[in-house]
Order: sequence, then structure tokens, then C-alpha cells
Amino acid sequence: MGKLAINGGVPALSRAEWPVWPRVTAAEELAVLTALRQGDFTGLQRNGSVQQLEERWAAEVGAGHCIAVANGTAAITLALAASGVQPGDDVLVPALTFIAPALAVAHLGARPIFVDVDPVSFNICAADLRRKVTPRSTAVVVVHLHGLAADMDEIAAVAAEFRLAVVEDAAQAQGAVYRGRKIGSLSPVTTFSLSISKNLPTCGEGGLITTNDAGLAASITRLRQFGEDLIPGMARSYEHHDIGWNNKMNGVQSAFTLSLLGRFGADNAIRQRQVGRFLQRLSGLPGLICPSHPADRTHVWHILRFRFAHGFAAAHGVSAASLRKAMQRVLQAEGCPVREYQTMPLSAQPVFRSAAAGTWAARFYDGRPLRFDRQAVAHSCDIVGDSFVLQKFHLVPGADAVLEKCADAFEKAYAQLDFVIELARAQPYAPPWPQETDEESGKAA
Ligand SMILES: *Cc1c(COP(=O)(O)O)cnc(C)c1O
Repeated sequence: MGKLAINGGVPALSRAEWPVWPRVTAAEELAVLTALRQGDFTGLQRNGSVQQLEERWAAEVGAGHCIAVANGTAAITLALAASGVQPGDDVLVPALTFIAPALAVAHLGARPIFVDVDPVSFNICAADLRRKVTPRSTAVVVVHLHGLAADMDEIAAVAAEFRLAVVEDAAQAQGAVYRGRKIGSLSPVTTFSLSISKNLPTCGEGGLITTNDAGLAASITRLRQFGEDLIPGMARSYEHHDIGWNNKMNGVQSAFTLSLLGRFGADNAIRQRQVGRFLQRLSGLPGLICPSHPADRTHVWHILRFRFAHGFAAAHGVSAASLRKAMQRVLQAEGCPVREYQTMPLSAQPVFRSAAAGTWAARFYDGRPLRFDRQAVAHSCDIVGDSFVLQKFHLVPGADAVLEKCADAFEKAYAQLDFVIELARAQPYAPPWPQETDEESGKAA
């Protein structure tokens, strides 16, 4: 194979070839234009786009109710509030995920307790969940990370034992199936994001909440509308019964998502095939651990996370994290946009570990930041160091040719592994979280 692009060779693919996500076709343009022309702007519109989207998504996942909201973070906040989380509660959250679920917990005045994840599925570990439950714990947010359902039966058993409310965050797992059941109808309440990066996006911000519980649906509907009950066709009462938010979704964005929903199933099927082929090609590369899924559930491949095996790296005299960092630089130069997704576990984020004076966060928790304990989230720390991800790129139906070039880039890098190892040695990975010695001695090492 040719000279590596990082050394002045020709890149395996160019930026101009990158597929664009979300893909906007004439169907979405027409859907949005129609909503604009019909003044289809709010959820109050009888049989407007918001109501239609709610009905279609409830049917899609097999839930009794769906409530459209402003975004995925608001969806988690409302779901937790309606599930009974109170200020002063502890809420269990996976340590490896996007920060939204932990922020949602903090917005309610509750304290996030971080649970380590499984090193293969990257999802919250049921055994660690059991270990981390505190006397004040009232709920757990289960994130189906990267498009793979978490171990819901095992988690539900722990939740039942400790009487924890379960909120599923399926922002990354739209359409995923767990033991024959669609995500969105398993637990009392499930949240989704329609952010532009997700498998089912909108043209901006949006979120969906599904539940089979009519009482929860009514609470959430009230909480998204200033704590007010709106009755379609009736004048507003301006009576407020709860500390609600203004967290509604709008008609134009609902119309966009409704249009995409028309080809959601077909796009998923195409994606299964093209990602399958891509992973098949990479599966032969030594020391590279490709994403996978157990036989009893699907993976909707929202994000593809690749780890580097510790034994393989050690045999070459470097750490897996340093090898990952070097390989990432080489692949990026080749035009393959692999990158980190989360650079630290949530418990190491400044907002939770050492909120700066003057921030709102500094006034939380009696001014005592939560303690960062590497051992408590050891798998999450390892994964953050030794893995990179591919995002959005592979979601676009018809991205096969580009994914082939991406696989070429991997093979090109592996053909010159000695150079990559040298790079790893010269610029080793340094984790961004505080080292144990600093924490123990209270001074810099
Ligand atoms: C994207 C995402 C969210 C937040 O959704 P927004 O719509 O951006 O607020 C929440 N949780 C996870 C796991 C996500 O990936």
C-alpha cells in the first residue's frame, strides 16, 4: 500500500466525499413547506404534525402514549420528575455516556451516582448498579449506548429490589430491539432525542417520551407546558398546577421527522447491511476490537466504537490508549474521521468533580463537589482511553463506497504498523482526569 497521508502520501478518502447526515430529500422539503403553509406550528393543532408524530412513534415502538418535547435532555428531566425524583435524591447514571442524563438529574436538585459500564457492550453494568445503590437512591437512568440495548431484565431486577424508578434513555437506540421487544415499551418510561446526529433526527432539536402509563403521560404533558393542562379546542385556563417547563416540540420540526419516519425501517435495513460489511472487513485486523451485539438483541449502530486490545499493544511495547491515539491521528490524516466520543467518564467532568467558583454548579451539593474515584469507574476510564468512534458517516444509506475507503485507510495504517507504534511511543496518551496520587496527597505530583 502507498505512503501514509500523515507522511505526505495521498489520503484514502477526501473530506468532499464524506456523506452528509441527516440526509434531506425533496420529501422533507415538501413536509416542512406544507407545515409552514398550513400554520402547523404547535402541538395544539388538532391532528397537526406534533400529534401525528406522537401517534406514529407510539405505534412504532408499541407504547400506549408518546409525548413530543423540546429535546432529549428535556425528555429525561421530565421523565425523572414525573417518576417522582425529588431534590436531595440520588439517581444512578452510567459513567460512560453523553452528559445529558447526569445534567437532567442535577437540574432536579438530585445527585448523580456514577455506575461503571460493561467493557464489551459499553452499557451500564447491572452488578455494579447493585453495588452503587445508596440509601437515598430513588431512580436509575439506563442509557442504551451507541444503539445497543442494555441488560434490561437484570437491571429491572435490581431496580425492583431497591424500589428504583427506571428511566430508559434511548437517544442513541431508536428502533433497537431487546429480546423481541422494541425499546420504548419495556420500562414505565423511555426517552428519545431527535437531535440532528441521531438515527431518527429532526432539522434542529426535538425529543420524544414513550410510556404505557396514562398517569405518567398526563404528568409529563403538564410538565412540558408550564404545569398547565391544555385541552385542544378550548381556551387556555392559565391555571398552573406544577413547576413545569416550556419544553414543547414544534410542528415544523415534527413534520420533518414524520417524513423521515416514512423510510426509517428501510434505512435501518440498509444500514444493517452496509455496517455489517464494513465491520466484517475490519474484523481481521489484529488487536482491533469491533463493536458487536449479543444474539438476543439488535444493534442499530448509532455510533461504532472500536477498542484496541491491551495484550496486542503491550506486545508492541505501548499502552492500548497510546496505540489508539496514534492510530486515530494516522486515520484522520487518511480522511477517515474517527475520533473520541467522551474524553473522560462523567464523574471526572469539572462540573461534578471541581465546579469553578461562581458557577451555578458550585452552589450544588452544599458546595462539596462529588469525588472522582478512578477505581469506581475503571472500565469507563479504560474504554475512554483505548477506543475511538465513527459517527454519522456510516448512517447515510448508500455510504458503502466511502466505508470501503475507510476500511482501506485502516488496512493502510496496519500495513505500516511499525510507524504507528513509533508515533504511539513518541506521543503517549495522558488521561485528562486527576491521577490517584494527586487526590490522595492533595498536591500535584
Ligand atoms: C444526544 C443524547 C442525549 C441528549 O439529547 P439532546 O436532544 O441533544 O438534548 C441524551 N442522552 C444521550 C445518550 C444522547 O446521546
